[in-house]
Amino acid sequence: MRILLVEDDTQLRTQLRTALHGAGYTVDEADNGRDAQFLGDTEAVDAVVLDLGLPVVDGLTVLKRWRAEGRNMPVLILTARDNWHEKVAGIDAGADDYLTKPFHLEELLARLRALIRRASGQASAVLQCGDWSLDTRSGRMTCAGQPVALTAHEYKVLDYLMHRPGVLVSRAELTEHIYAQDFDRDSNTIEVFVGRLRKKLQSPSASAARIETVRGMGYRLVPP
Ligand code: CA
Repeated sequence: MRILLVEDDTQLRTQLRTALHGAGYTVDEADNGRDAQFLGDTEAVDAVVLDLGLPVVDGLTVLKRWRAEGRNMPVLILTARDNWHEKVAGIDAGADDYLTKPFHLEELLARLRALIRRASGQASAVLQCGDWSLDTRSGRMTCAGQPVALTAHEYKVLDYLMHRPGVLVSRAELTEHIYAQDFDRDSNTIEVFVGRLRKKLQSPSASAARIETVRGMGYRLVPP
């Protein structure tokens, strides 16, 4: 999953970036409203963390423009303390949730997980498909009850598919959602990650899920 992080406070942005990477997200960053708007318009982001007090163009304006253009990615706004009208304006402009500074990183991560979950129609923080189970809070994956260790990229691919069981996901879409903007993207590597996931997640049980290849189209996570 790809997060667009918009914050002009360098120290806070660095902290947030570290926390988001640690939680398995790909992160694109902007420190002003104009760059934020551009990235949100051109990149396949799964959620946005948007500070409202930004240079060049303020966060509220950026959010209003996105919604006016019909962009419906989940947006979590960051507001200044004791500024209740900023929250109201943000929610009215189309924010899905807000956090007031200062906040705990754990709370930001929990709220983001919930937003991404809701956007993909999932109710629980533990994603289940057959005997595959991915706990998005801890990043822990189990297959038939056995823990499976995943690399960062394997996790990103699986996390994206586990949020969309039964849905055909193209290789291009997967590539867009696991690599940041400035990353050298090669959709062939997706095939490698999927191949490794299949090996790691083999289970003899009848309730095993699997990743199906749809020729010329992409992949689909298939429940048993
Ligand atoms: Ca700010």
